[in-house]
Amino acid sequence: MQGRYDVVVIGAGPAGEGAAMKLVKEGCRVAMVDERARLGGNCVHLGTIPSKALRQTVWNLMRYQRDPLFQDAHRLTVTPPEGGLQETLEFAHAVIATGSRPYRPADIDFTHQRVFDSDKILTLDYPVRKLIIYGAGVIGCEYASIFVGLGYKVDLVNTQAQLLSFLDDEIADALSYYLRELGVLVRNQEEYERLETFDDSVVLHLKSGKKIKADAILWCNGRSGNTDTLALERLGLVPNSRGQLAVDEQYRTALPHVFAAGDVIGPPALASAAYDQGRCAAAHLVGSSDVPRVEEVPTGIYTIPEISSIGKTEKQLTEAKVPYEVGQAFFRHLARAQITGETVGMLKLLFHRETLEILGIHCFGDNAAEIVHIGQAIMQQKNGANTLRYFVNTTFNYPTMAEAYRVAALNGLNRLF
Ligand SMILES: Cc1cc2nc3c(=O)[nH]c(=O)nc-3n(C[C@H](O)[C@H](O)[C@H](O)COP(=O)(O)OP(=O)(O)OC[C@H]3O[C@@H](n4cnc5c(N)ncnc54)[C@H](O)[C@@H]3O)c2cc1C
Repeated sequence: MQGRYDVVVIGAGPAGEGAAMKLVKEGCRVAMVDERARLGGNCVHLGTIPSKALRQTVWNLMRYQRDPLFQDAHRLTVTPPEGGLQETLEFAHAVIATGSRPYRPADIDFTHQRVFDSDKILTLDYPVRKLIIYGAGVIGCEYASIFVGLGYKVDLVNTQAQLLSFLDDEIADALSYYLRELGVLVRNQEEYERLETFDDSVVLHLKSGKKIKADAILWCNGRSGNTDTLALERLGLVPNSRGQLAVDEQYRTALPHVFAAGDVIGPPALASAAYDQGRCAAAHLVGSSDVPRVEEVPTGIYTIPEISSIGKTEKQLTEAKVPYEVGQAFFRHLARAQITGETVGMLKLLFHRETLEILGIHCFGDNAAEIVHIGQAIMQQKNGANTLRYFVNTTFNYPTMAEAYRVAALNGLNRLF
């Protein structure tokens, strides 16, 4: 359907949804374009926990499918799903929310039946006894937990010296320990030289001279922004080598009327952040500043054990010479964990030793991604209310996992002198 729109939103994942919902509420006429026949993006279709939010009615949205191509700064052509003539949309503004896809090096044959990435792995339909996972980022570590839990032998090949180095060291160490306990063979600081494929197996040759044989390989080494098929060159927008677009504080690209949000702008590449980035971009697009920029995003990693954190790590605070102290609560000491049997885990609070301000919250263990939110809420309080005192002076339900905050706060206060 031809038409003039205030905004075209390209991509119907969380970033596109966040942007479109906000724009419609602001009274804009919005066209949403996606190459898929269904809303939801990768978040819903290729990995993340299905988002119920997408089931909400998307009022006022006109949806097109397939192959959006920029013609110039204010026109986009789309091809209807059933084929036929291309249609042209005229727009005042655009939001690019096309997400990302697994990075596929040219020398790896992803059409081979034994070679998978995180999209293709969902189609695995034959039994595997041993799996190589190449790349030990969040997705690689999560899948290592899943497959070892299913009884597969897993070799996790990490190109870095330690797992998930953006985490607090103690938490990253705990992850390494528990993955190894489960049976994952973690091989740090290794890079592939080449991959040999056979009908029934693969052999990964590493630059260190090692060779690993397995029934299949799951490639989890990075993602690329989906910008290559939009004809961005007609707009004069140039993505970086990973296909990602640079944006300013307001999620504006180099063109003032074109915004971008979600995985297509790079880290943190989380559905949680993408949705809020989309909303924030939409707010600025209509000249409002009622949606804050996405700054403090908690990390939620669904490994076994689960990991979650927000704020600074010990390493960052030490480098910045902040006088901090540590308070810890081990799950095995909590009544609730004893009852549920989920005794593996720890909550660690980093706080300023003079002001008691909470500077970082790091948790691993069952429900860590939920537990972190309690601390996040206190950490974001203003006017001096973001301190350990809250946990010491507030009565929580008992027995609960939230008690970990009180235990960790008391543990930390006991360290002060
Ligand atoms: C295995 C896995 C697990 C994950 N787990 C989590 C998690 O636990 N928590 C979390 O917060 N995040 C998680 N993520 C990340 C999360 O999926 C992404 O951050 C999120 O989906 C990004 O949202 P988006 O809107 O930017 O892009 P997407 O969800 O990728 O949506 C982009 C949309 O744009 C469309 N599109 C792409 N190119 C074009 C084009 N040229 N024309 C038209 N339409 C186009 C796509 O069809 C898609 O619908 C995970 C990702 C993976 C792969």
